Amino acid sequence: MAGMLEGKVSLITGGARGIGRETALLFAEEGAKVVVSDLNSEGSEETVALINKQGGQALSKPCDVTNTEAVNSLVDFTISSFGRIDCAFNNAGIAPYQIGAQGKRTGDWPEDSVDKMLAINLKGVWACMAAELRAMSAAGNGGSIINTASIAGLAGLAFTSMYVAAKHGVVGLTKTAAIEYAPDNIRVNSVCPGYIETDMTRETMAQRGEQVLSRVPAKRMGQPREIAEMVCWLASDRASFVTGSNYNVDGGFVAS
Ligand code: NDP
Repeated sequence: MAGMLEGKVSLITGGARGIGRETALLFAEEGAKVVVSDLNSEGSEETVALINKQGGQALSKPCDVTNTEAVNSLVDFTISSFGRIDCAFNNAGIAPYQIGAQGKRTGDWPEDSVDKMLAINLKGVWACMAAELRAMSAAGNGGSIINTASIAGLAGLAFTSMYVAAKHGVVGLTKTAAIEYAPDNIRVNSVCPGYIETDMTRETMAQRGEQVLSRVPAKRMGQPREIAEMVCWLASDRASFVTGSNYNVDGGFVAS
């Protein structure tokens, strides 16, 4: 049986680890050619090696999503390497603790941390999406773009204000681009992961895991593969009438 993404060419940012890596592996399993991108080139190359080992086709291309020129080159690289671009997963992101804003209330966020958060988690998603939309629209074959938002894109979450602001922005960008590009048959959707077991959540879970899980109806963390499954479906033609939507994959967190 053909894979869900057989013959498609995909681009994934933040593919060196966590949710991005697992999605790259699943895309390849389902028949897609994958360009794996990340700031962390060593990690991306490891992801590519894992894909090639399982018989898939992948290439690594380092890119900082805050550099619009580099992002444009990344999309060009995807097309020149594999001939087209059909799906993209804009997933690179950081958490407040990575930029000196951990545990800070809104009024105490250093301005530099605010700028970094917006540059990576919001403008970076726009830059990727913009380049992908231009390329897909010019090619005229349609496409599917999925952006990683968060449960923090739907509600306030204390001590993470600019992360929350950026992720709300991603949800809004997604809806707007979906409306604008529906006539080109380009679908744009977002996913909102809950607490997922990756490097990003390791410290939080070590410090207050019990408290976090008490708010999750499923009473466990999610696995990166559980996000990858949703992204893969959204990328595939099985989701052909789905655009401008946002999917929570959160063990019931938002519902509770
Ligand atoms: P990880 O920290 O495991 O992976 C994030 C990846 O993004 C890293 O490889 C990192 O590279 C890369 N990255 C960071 N900044 C940039 C940049 N400027 N340009 C390119 N790549 C960059 O995180 P997750 O897999 O957990 O998270 C992936 C996405 O999911 C993020 O957008 C996150 O906000 C979102 N999310 C995660 C949740 C969770 O519980 N884990 C919950 C909700 C949303 P490097 O290694 O160099 O830092």
